[in-house]
Amino acid sequence: MTRLLVLVFSIVVSACRPEDANVEFDSFKESFMDRLWEVYPGWASNVGYHKYDSVLVVPDREAFEKELSFAAEELAVLSQFDVASLSDNNKTDYYLIKNHLESIPWYYNEERSWEWNPTVYNVSGLFAHMLVNNYDSLDIRLRHFGLRLASVPAYYETAKQNIKNPTREHTRLAISQNLGGVSVFEDDLDAAMKKSNLSETEKSEIKQDADRAVNAIRGFVAWLGDLKNENARSFRLGKDLYPKKFAFEIQSAFDVDEVYEKAVARKKMLHEKMITLAGQLWPEYMGNAPQPADKLVMVKQVIDKISLTHVSPDSFQSAIEKQIPELAAFVTEKDLLFIDPAKPLVVRKEPDYMAGVAGASISAPGPYDKEGNTYYNVGSLSGWEAERAESYLREYNHYLLQVLNIHEAIPGHYAQLVYSNQSPSIIKSVLTNGAMVEGWAVYSELMMLENGYGNDQPELWLMYYKWNLRAVCNTILDIGVHMKGMTEDEAMHLLINEAFQQEAEARGKWNRVQVTSVQLCSYFAGFAEIHDFREELKARLGEDFDLKSFHEKFLSYGSAPVKHIRTLMLSELEKNSR
Ligand code: ZN
Ligand code: ZN
Repeated sequence: MTRLLVLVFSIVVSACRPEDANVEFDSFKESFMDRLWEVYPGWASNVGYHKYDSVLVVPDREAFEKELSFAAEELAVLSQFDVASLSDNNKTDYYLIKNHLESIPWYYNEERSWEWNPTVYNVSGLFAHMLVNNYDSLDIRLRHFGLRLASVPAYYETAKQNIKNPTREHTRLAISQNLGGVSVFEDDLDAAMKKSNLSETEKSEIKQDADRAVNAIRGFVAWLGDLKNENARSFRLGKDLYPKKFAFEIQSAFDVDEVYEKAVARKKMLHEKMITLAGQLWPEYMGNAPQPADKLVMVKQVIDKISLTHVSPDSFQSAIEKQIPELAAFVTEKDLLFIDPAKPLVVRKEPDYMAGVAGASISAPGPYDKEGNTYYNVGSLSGWEAERAESYLREYNHYLLQVLNIHEAIPGHYAQLVYSNQSPSIIKSVLTNGAMVEGWAVYSELMMLENGYGNDQPELWLMYYKWNLRAVCNTILDIGVHMKGMTEDEAMHLLINEAFQQEAEARGKWNRVQVTSVQLCSYFAGFAEIHDFREELKARLGEDFDLKSFHEKFLSYGSAPVKHIRTLMLSELEKNSR
């Protein structure tokens, strides 16, 4: 049946004129999204599409078959389109869809994390989302919650059948994450039910299923704890899988080796600049103290001293709020990017459920929430122990706090979001290219300083370099650990001695790289690609290069992979110069 449809469809498409091709493609995208959400109901709920809230997919063979045929069938339809006949917006959507569909069989058949990574089995986040977000009345949300609960025992039984020789690191993490999620079905659910208007019968039915769900989670955790697992798989993704995963997730023009070499070269360059700057700042901050022979130790001492310049705990939030309009004014004054004043960034104290997670972060409205505001969540340090607050404030000292605001807000994530919302694409908001998004934010930090933000204060540059080293060393660490056998000692040396991180931060990063792969590369990979592309255009256009037009044009394509944006921008340039 499906095959027949594809054939009929191909005849229709090939007879199309270009403008019709876009109409056809738009309707393809619609049916693609409908099927995507039907196959991945949990993902749908997470992005604010709530039609399938009552469904929990049991990850058995049948569910995988459904994913695989979805991928094959949609790819067949997609291949009927002639990319050249599509608009730029649809071209980038086309490539994102193709990449995503091609990744599905690879993840299932080759990567196989459903066998060795027990953290893929955890339902609590999905259920917590239904209690926390007010997208619908509490009663309706709770009824869907109840329906979804019924499949939890089957879900965990299937998980046990799927798991084979899991890594010890993912097993430990799965145990703690699943245990951490139990409260959703106990205290959180109880509190929500109390506020609801459900009948006592409904409540007790939900409660019974919640108890069964908790038993299933605890049973799974106990089962994981009892695994003998003598042939545990290494947490390192390895040379065979890593480059392919990198290609699917980063979607970069550079391959793994190129990105690695670029990161190593940039680390060297940053160290040289930092040594020069710290040497110049030494007398001012360290007086007559003799300089250590190890230059990186010298840099670290100067950084530690500069970090003492920071706001007080109770003015942390107001310091951030005050900076946002200043950053916007600078961007406008220097002609770097148009910032639409009609779409202001709403600064708010971070909501309780995010408390303590991060100093500052952006919350964008989901793709199905068009009216939603973009929030800049600022953490309050009230209630923090003095020692913890002090260490945090030294990290986000007077200088680094400015770089953080550039990254998160203006002209970083927030400004990028405003632009991507101008060419609204459900595909690009759902299949967002993380390397482009993070790369833009990292690029914007350098771009602001290059254009005189902070009046070339050496302290600001030094702190910026330290911050940039974090992105650079994330990449060296990730590729080093997963491809090159980097040991724990080597990793800690890299982060503490070469990237100037505190022991606790470095330890956290080591824990993270053992249970994730590739994602840590997105910051630097995207940054390097955007930066290189800008330099390429500058060299090519000479006098005609205009930074503001470059930024606005670049951002107008939305959150698509940099390599596709580059191709489209270059071809437009060709057309215009003819
Ligand atoms: Zn202090
Ligand atoms: Zn970011």
